[in-house]
Amino acid sequence: MATYSSSPMTEAPTTERDGFVLARLDEVVQAARTDSLWFMTFGLACCAVEMMHAAMARYDLDRFGIIPRSSPRHSDLMIVAGTLTNKMAPAIRKVYDQMPEPRYVISMGSCANGGGYYHYSYSVVRGCDRIVPVDVYVPGCPPTAEALLYGILQLQAKIKRPRVIQR
Ligand code: SF4
Repeated sequence: MATYSSSPMTEAPTTERDGFVLARLDEVVQAARTDSLWFMTFGLACCAVEMMHAAMARYDLDRFGIIPRSSPRHSDLMIVAGTLTNKMAPAIRKVYDQMPEPRYVISMGSCANGGGYYHYSYSVVRGCDRIVPVDVYVPGCPPTAEALLYGILQLQAKIKRPRVIQR
């Protein structure tokens, strides 16, 4: 984060000594977005257990400011964890539409990514990206809690990435 200080350039500025810090607004907004990803829990099958595991004490998503929310209107992120059936598809879309912008989606596991074992089933959607736009895919059956954590870190990096082409 960019800082400004009236002290000599050789010394790093500190809020204690200089009393203030200047930052670019877009960096502050990005920090607010990436460090408070409240996720809508959309546990549909066995992958949901690993999603719960990631939120428990061992991996402790809270330390990244990432907490589960059971209301779509309070959520920035939807984690689709499990097998999405045709019957459930309208519900997931409705929940997604209720989330405020900017909103993000992580597809967790083979079933959510492309139907998985049930790819040829009459009742399963062959990938949740047919229903909602997906930002990050986490592979595996099921992906481990570490893999989900890595996927969330990838999403944070994606949010921070500048959206304009820079020379
Ligand atoms: S990807 Fe595997 S673990 Fe996850 S919901 Fe499908 S069958 Fe279950």
